[in-house]
Amino acid sequence: MAKIIELTDDLSNKIAAGEVVERPASVIKELVENAIDAKSSVIDILIEEAGLSKMTVIDNGLGIEPEDVSTAFLRHATSKIKTEKDLFRVHTLGFRGEALPSIASVAKVKMTTSSGEMGTTIVIEGGKEIDKHSDSARRGTEIEVSELFYNTPARLKYLKSLPTELGNITDVINRLALAHPTISFRLSHNGKPLLSTSGNGDLRQVIAAIYGVQIAKKTVPIEAESLDFKISGYGVLPEINRSNRNYISTIINGRYIKNFALVKAIQEGYHTLLPIGRFPIIVLEIEMDPIIIDVNVHPAKLEVRLSKEKELGQLITAAIKDAFHKLQLIPDGAVSKREKLQSEQLKIRLDDKPDQEKLDQDDKPVTQMLFEKPSVPEFIPEQNEADSEPFVFEQEEVYVSDAAPVPEEKPERIPKMYPIGQMHATYILAQNEEGLYIIDQHAAQERIKYEFYREKIGEVSRELQELLVPIVLEFTADEFLRLTEAKEKLEDVGVFMEPFGQNSFIIRSHPTWFPKGEEETTLREIVDEALHEPNVSIHKLREDTAIMMSCKKSIKANHYLTMPDMEALLDTLREASDPFTCPHGRPVIIKYTTYELEKMFKRVM
Ligand code: ADP
Ligand code: MG
Repeated sequence: MAKIIELTDDLSNKIAAGEVVERPASVIKELVENAIDAKSSVIDILIEEAGLSKMTVIDNGLGIEPEDVSTAFLRHATSKIKTEKDLFRVHTLGFRGEALPSIASVAKVKMTTSSGEMGTTIVIEGGKEIDKHSDSARRGTEIEVSELFYNTPARLKYLKSLPTELGNITDVINRLALAHPTISFRLSHNGKPLLSTSGNGDLRQVIAAIYGVQIAKKTVPIEAESLDFKISGYGVLPEINRSNRNYISTIINGRYIKNFALVKAIQEGYHTLLPIGRFPIIVLEIEMDPIIIDVNVHPAKLEVRLSKEKELGQLITAAIKDAFHKLQLIPDGAVSKREKLQSEQLKIRLDDKPDQEKLDQDDKPVTQMLFEKPSVPEFIPEQNEADSEPFVFEQEEVYVSDAAPVPEEKPERIPKMYPIGQMHATYILAQNEEGLYIIDQHAAQERIKYEFYREKIGEVSRELQELLVPIVLEFTADEFLRLTEAKEKLEDVGVFMEPFGQNSFIIRSHPTWFPKGEEETTLREIVDEALHEPNVSIHKLREDTAIMMSCKKSIKANHYLTMPDMEALLDTLREASDPFTCPHGRPVIIKYTTYELEKMFKRVM
């Protein structure tokens, strides 16, 4: 007797629902994406009990014709693609025709929809059509999903706490809003508004609505274009950063996606500008021919496959580097027009013991952020405590660097600074016509050395210095093999090893510019790095080596410097291509403009 049967529609919908409808946030994602695909300009999202009791999405889009309403709830029923060819040119967010039947199989659904003339209302419970009647509806669609998972109790058990589920929903809406600045999104929970975007097309305003006005003010436009890609968006200045990657948004052709390689490329763009373990806030929109992206690899279409991922990554990294390199990245005070903002910052800075509330605000000085514990991501949009009014940027409020775009050749990034003295044998105080500078002498020297070594390591020809006593290093068989494979990479950063007996190498010489007195430890540390990160790229190995060398023998805090010492250090620092952060991303210079000082002393109002 035959043992193989075809599953009923109801059962296969439930199975599909397992992939598409994991939690309330996935229902919201599907419903709102449908509203976007229907070319809506305003989308209302009303949530009750974190979506467990009811979720309603109301749009003003194209609606569904009466004769299509039941079909829309059939498995694999879609109006978005027709042929296989279309699958490779998807212009809509949906196309699999799975969402409505999946949702309707695990919840109670009521939809009222109209394409302008006769409207229809349909009620489906647990996949069964209960009612359908004509309705005189306005154009658009209103869909209400209640009692999610009422008939699949096992699913309910997997749900997290209400705040977590609500957090997931706000995250989905935030990303959709960032991806669609021309659509007005209004999200509320139990009647309380959580997010409202104007839909006027200004991405910075969406950023302001989600992350707060203060953060939006500190954004820098990021743009780049190549034959295949067009990138646009905003990156927040590195002085404001986060302890996780959740604030990185990548959007491809209007679809928010998760892609590890692109996130890596973004981090690379911010590299050395952020403290270790901190991540940027950034929104990047990428446009490309749909043919080079495969969106059909993940049921919720969150992950995509890109055929030119590497090229895109390089373009992103370069675009970010470029955007920030043009700015003077001295935290605080670099912009003179943000009076209100500045006085707020000053207040915080002057506080001897800043209270945690203030520390958690967005505009805390970098110095304080360094000492804070990594913060847990919040589920409520930060807009909550900020103004929920749509925020209008005046031209002068836009972050602009005081400096004109830096010319290619000899960039002068800080005017000459004259030392006043040293404080606690740790900080150099200096002045010039622009104001007062406080320089961390250790960080400054690390930055200078880092740039020196980075250049040296990059040089092809190098003079070698014989070691008085050659070093013999022993390894396990496996390590020996890995190092043999990494031979070229190691030579690239100045380590020349020859096999020497079983599983050992001998090193007889090193480049002359290796840190004096630390040659041997330097060699060992580079070899360790190559061992522990076997797939490290040459680029990264160079970078890490330069950072490691720069830390060696830098003047530490608590070290007395003479005036000429300080003068020399400041002059060299000014010549660094990136004098504002140390290679670990900590700030080197803090500046108080004369104007800020005058404000503090109430000489000006
Ligand atoms: P998909 O989005 O993959 O096509 P869905 O199951 O999400 O599949 O939706 C099925 C169809 O129902 C869509 O192709 C679309 O024609 C129609 N539809 C769903 N939601 C809406 C909406 N809010 N406005 C207009 N049409 C909609
Ligand atoms: Mg859909």
